[in-house]
Amino acid sequence: MKQNIHPTYQVTSVTCACGNSFETGSIKTNLRVEICSVCHPFFTGKQKFIDVGGRVDKFKKKYGI
Ligand SMILES: [Zn+2]
Repeated sequence: MKQNIHPTYQVTSVTCACGNSFETGSIKTNLRVEICSVCHPFFTGKQKFIDVGGRVDKFKKKYGI
């Protein structure tokens, strides 16, 4: 790679709206996200306000949850 034309890729901490934070590689520092693997309904099993068109209900029905 050429020198000085690429942004610095570094480890940065990502903070989620749910309070969870984790580290990842990015060119930005102190990222903020609204949803992460901890608070995403798929992983928590809880329904959040991001349910679009009852897809979560459909999923639950399909798998009998
Ligand atoms: Zn989160």
